[in-house]
Amino acid sequence: MYRCARCKEPIKTDIGIVGVQCDRCGFKIFIKERPNMKKVVKAR
Ligand SMILES: [Zn+2]
Repeated sequence: MYRCARCKEPIKTDIGIVGVQCDRCGFKIFIKERPNMKKVVKAR
């Protein structure tokens, strides 16, 4: 699961798709949520 790095909106779209952005704010950097670690992912 991913969340927007700015507004923390959950991202439902597959971020493997080029050009995907946050539904709420249009931001293109997302945080990948895992049980024990967080990884920042930049959309292409
Ligand atoms: Zn956002």
